[in-house]
Amino acid sequence: GEDATPPAPRLDAAFYVQVAVERGVDAEPRGFTYAVPEGVPSLGDLGVGDRVTVPLGRGDKPVQGFVVAVSDDPPAGVEAAKIKPVRGRLGLAVKLPADLVGLAGWMSRYYACPIGMTLATMLPASVKHGTGVSVRRSYRAAEGKRGSGEAEKRGSQQKTTKLQRAILESAGAGWVERKELLERAGAKTAGPLQKLLEAGRLEERSEEVVTGNLDAVAPPEADAAQRLEPAQRDAVNAIVSRFGSFHVDLLHGVTGSGKTEVYLQAIAKLRELEPQACVLVLVPEIALTPQTVGRFAARFGGSSGPGAAGVAVLHSGLTPGQRHAHWRRVSEGTSRIVIGARSAVFAPLPRLDLVIVDEEHDTGYKQDQLPRYHGRDVAIKRAAMAAGGRGCPVVLGSATPALESYARALPGKRRSEEAKKSGSQAGWSLLSLPDRVAGAKLPRVEVVDLARERRERKGVHLLSRRLEAAIAETLDGGGQVVLLLNRRGYANYIACPDAGCGWLLTCDHCDALGVYHRHDHVPAGRTERVSASGFRLPKGNVRCHHCGAERRLPTHCPDSGHKLSVFGMGTQRTEEELIRKFPGLLSGGGSAAGAASVTRMDADAMRSAADYQRALAGFVSGETEVLLGTQMIAKGLDVANVRLVGVVSADTALNLPDFRAAERTFQLIAQVAGRAGRGRDPGTVIVQTLVPEDATIASATRHDYAGFAERELGIREEAGLPPFTRMARVVCRDLNRRKAEAAIGAVHAELVAADAALGTGVAVTPPAPCAIERVADHFRFDLRMTGADAGAIQKLLAAVRSAGHLTSNAAMAVDVDPVSMY
Ligand code: ADP
Ligand code: ZN
Repeated sequence: GEDATPPAPRLDAAFYVQVAVERGVDAEPRGFTYAVPEGVPSLGDLGVGDRVTVPLGRGDKPVQGFVVAVSDDPPAGVEAAKIKPVRGRLGLAVKLPADLVGLAGWMSRYYACPIGMTLATMLPASVKHGTGVSVRRSYRAAEGKRGSGEAEKRGSQQKTTKLQRAILESAGAGWVERKELLERAGAKTAGPLQKLLEAGRLEERSEEVVTGNLDAVAPPEADAAQRLEPAQRDAVNAIVSRFGSFHVDLLHGVTGSGKTEVYLQAIAKLRELEPQACVLVLVPEIALTPQTVGRFAARFGGSSGPGAAGVAVLHSGLTPGQRHAHWRRVSEGTSRIVIGARSAVFAPLPRLDLVIVDEEHDTGYKQDQLPRYHGRDVAIKRAAMAAGGRGCPVVLGSATPALESYARALPGKRRSEEAKKSGSQAGWSLLSLPDRVAGAKLPRVEVVDLARERRERKGVHLLSRRLEAAIAETLDGGGQVVLLLNRRGYANYIACPDAGCGWLLTCDHCDALGVYHRHDHVPAGRTERVSASGFRLPKGNVRCHHCGAERRLPTHCPDSGHKLSVFGMGTQRTEEELIRKFPGLLSGGGSAAGAASVTRMDADAMRSAADYQRALAGFVSGETEVLLGTQMIAKGLDVANVRLVGVVSADTALNLPDFRAAERTFQLIAQVAGRAGRGRDPGTVIVQTLVPEDATIASATRHDYAGFAERELGIREEAGLPPFTRMARVVCRDLNRRKAEAAIGAVHAELVAADAALGTGVAVTPPAPCAIERVADHFRFDLRMTGADAGAIQKLLAAVRSAGHLTSNAAMAVDVDPVSMY
């Protein structure tokens, strides 16, 4: 009976937690076990998603981590007494929602990245460090003692000073904030207040207040829902029919077909049906799409202004305090629509009902450092896992979809293997908006053969006669012009003019050409030198676009001693030529006041989001007549008066050592062409190219995405490339070339052996130097894995990774679904 019951062991631990440490320990994907000591109030409700400090390793070094699981008992086979206790909890008010912890588990497996590191990525640094949070203390006279006998008694024990009485009176029964209370009472120091607190005559309350302002989204101007075109209505209805479960709709709509309006009305409908519904909207590089963000804010309320509970924005252009403030609003459920760039996919929404990924083809969604995730793909996974696994719908929008998305959504023969295999259950559909809204026409596209132009015309001209004439005509007619050249700098070749020598200036640290950049802030006319041909080179220097190294321009070829020449095209040189040919135009590129009529928009001229927004506002208002720039200008710009778009060179991406070169070329031309003709005039697009017969350029000029995709998918299928297969890439880098080569060789051997053992059928290419072998003095080698589906690649990666042969660190990068191939 009772005597046989052993005395209950004294439990030191109330429960146990699995903690994934942020530093990233790959060997322990589920995290390490720690005990939560009994009777520590701040730890009593510790749960999944909380941040803690735990001792790690022999020296019990304190490290930070996330709780990923909670259990009553220690894991089987582990002696309770040996389990170390959690040291403490970090940031009481801040935790990751449990669904994000689940998502991190998936990401960690899929992208071969330690889970702790993945979790650390999900929490913005400002939230982690509590930036922009302050503690607000307020006071009131102690309950029951206000003017009561007891208070009098205490007062008589300890003489109440005049100041103390003033404080008590000012505080009264309501809560008064510290600063205000001291002011009201006329107290210069907090001493008397402290005395009252100690005497129990004042009560104190402290709250955390996020002080970051929310003004990042301007108070909205009214914006009414548009009357939908039939194709738009069909799309909205289709999306609405998916509410409550997982489904992916690829909304393929030509530029100006009203995709944004479809998103807006689908969201409105969702909120009508379910007022608590939460929506995640991803846009590429949000700082570059203020117009889109503005439309959401206009429809659903901004984040400032009276009672605004509308749109929250999350992106890198915010100050840390603003970021934290927005994050808090989202996590508290105050803002139920989040718009953000890539990392906003980790917004701490309390629930998820709809996901929208605008411009889903944009390469900016892929993060090029650990964890190397794709924002679109993670968003799709998050949607599939939402609502306890019931899932929610996803809308991917683009005028030029990624072939991965298109092949998956497309019914018919070009459907990828993956889609075929999972049949109709695949849950992907294609919604099309084939026309521009309100009967607007796509712009006319003309092609200029640059090779012919060069034969027929003396001198070096970046702008052809046709483009020059069209610019003149457009400006005369009061229209605005957009000029695209996806190459920044002044000129990208610095070479020996002696053909027999052939010397080209390359970076000292990289296998890449040096690019000449003129100094933007040196007044025009200051000449670096006059070349033999009389070409006046503006003052500047040579830069490497890979490592950032800068150097002075050498005067002579080190091999043959000839005076060097500088040629090739860049945005700076185009700007200069434009101003030379149109002397009436003033350059606004960073210059002082005055009518800025040409604005150059590239990463050199636009140093911050504010620069960009200012430049964009100048163009939207019409003050700037010509907007010239890199692909930055191709994004989301909707200005009715743009009547001419010129593509200075359509060929910049065509010869990249990347199997997606054609896709990138098509996307760039089609996107920038889409900036024309948004008003009544359909507008003109002039595309300059050395290869007018190129099939990709030809389809882009016909606005023929389907034709382009059909042909390109045929090529990909033939070559066994994505989207018909899945790919992963490993890059090893080292200052020592032999070491890099040895490292990739070892990985290769492990992968081949694991494939043989597991029969995954994944093809592993022999290691080879990367297309750009040396970057910042590091030699780089890579190998590629190609599998029939993602599962095969995952199986292989997991095996080699758990055996410790594959880690993501400074010397080795694992890139699953790589977007950049060099
Ligand atoms: P996309 O995102 O496909 O490029 P937008 O949604 O930006 O297209 O729409 C282009 C323009 O057409 C916007 O100015 C938008 O306000 C307007 N618009 C959208 N739908 C309609 C509609 N049904 N009727 C009239 N104008 C519309
Ligand atoms: Zn370099």
